[in-house]
Amino acid sequence: MATDITGELDAWRALPALQQPEWDDTGELAAVAAALAKQPPLVFAGECDQLKEELAAVARGEAFVLQGGDCAETFDGSTADAVKNKLKTLLQMAVVLTYAASVPVVKIGRMAGQFAKPRSKPTEVRDGVELPAYRGDAVNGFDFDAGSRRNDPWRLLQAYHCSAITLNLCRAFTKGGYADLRQVHAWNQDFVAQSPAGQRYEQLAAEIDRALTFMKACGANPDEFHGVEFYSSHEALLLEYERALTRVDHLSGLPYDVSAHFLWIGERTRQLDGAHVDFLSRIRNPIGVKLGPTTSADDALALMDKLNPDGEPGRLTFVTRMGAGKIRDALPSLIEKVTQHGSPVAWVCDPMHGNTWEAASGHKTRRVDDVLDEVAGFFEVHQALGTHPGGIHIEFTGDDVTECVGGGHEIAEDDLHQRYETACDPRLNRGQSLDLAFMVAELYRK
Ligand code: PEP
Ligand code: MN
Repeated sequence: MATDITGELDAWRALPALQQPEWDDTGELAAVAAALAKQPPLVFAGECDQLKEELAAVARGEAFVLQGGDCAETFDGSTADAVKNKLKTLLQMAVVLTYAASVPVVKIGRMAGQFAKPRSKPTEVRDGVELPAYRGDAVNGFDFDAGSRRNDPWRLLQAYHCSAITLNLCRAFTKGGYADLRQVHAWNQDFVAQSPAGQRYEQLAAEIDRALTFMKACGANPDEFHGVEFYSSHEALLLEYERALTRVDHLSGLPYDVSAHFLWIGERTRQLDGAHVDFLSRIRNPIGVKLGPTTSADDALALMDKLNPDGEPGRLTFVTRMGAGKIRDALPSLIEKVTQHGSPVAWVCDPMHGNTWEAASGHKTRRVDDVLDEVAGFFEVHQALGTHPGGIHIEFTGDDVTECVGGGHEIAEDDLHQRYETACDPRLNRGQSLDLAFMVAELYRK
């Protein structure tokens, strides 16, 4: 008997769905969902399967994930320059890791779809005025006025279009010559003179150049040197959007969410009997779940059984976000029980979300030292248990913002206002991101 795939894909509608915006007019929402359902896919099932294979290699200990981008992408930020700067930084970090740690790097952008945010409070108060919280450009506007903060379902369609624009740029940059390894210096040109991280990178780029010249002289010039595989990802938060972009693949007859290659469930929406876990259990993309410091080993095992009952390699990634002070205590028992369970999991460290605090100026910030310490703790725990530290998941931008304190340029708390541009959480800037890549490469070699 044929299974009713459509019915299964809508099973989440009967379950509690946290963090969903309330729309004034559900007729409008239905019209938007119908319009989205007619749009072309942003990614293809075959690409998602290829990423799944690469993540299977990560789970086996043979590759490393570099996943990153803005906390919240914005429609205004979908420009060629902003996308290029982010990609450039991601490529530089990936080259540092590939060369200095000698490990294949799976490159996944928190890009081309990261337009929706879960919020800890439904409203925001400023100078005595209370308005709905900003939930990401896919839902409402960042500006603090009643008109802008109104939830507007048509923004979902705009999120789709901005995702298409961004992904098109990413595909063009990574396949059209810009990601060619002979460009290692070019990615750094505007950066080298101004920063210690840029100078350190330049030395490594010179070594890569020599290695490339040597290999060319030997007659080796493989395709892999001329472009990279790049994958898109975002938090699968708005279920109407994800459902409307889920299609049954003609070849396999299986459903894929074609809004991104990789989708993850956030820390706030990973309830075992909730709508998000149900929906993601039914699509065939590779998926992730964020695990915060209160996660019990039993929670993790139950998520494995629900999201990857067949133990498919590469299907499930756990993204831990414990906080620098907690990771060394909280992570070991999770890893031990998950390893005993036997089903493959890729472990990725998000060193950002457990380390956020508010500066006296009111800016949300993170200390680069805490970020580095959480990554160091992640490596220590895995190395002690003989398991594989499979990757990092970070919030960063290619611009020289001042959102996280510390780092090579020593951004002080008093400097935060200078270039504080994030629409949500504080991001590492380019120098801070490169410093992190160098540190991870050193930890990896140990
Ligand atoms: C995020 O990734 O921006 C986020 C909200 O993370 P978490 O679900 O881990 O809190
Ligand atoms: Mn964030």
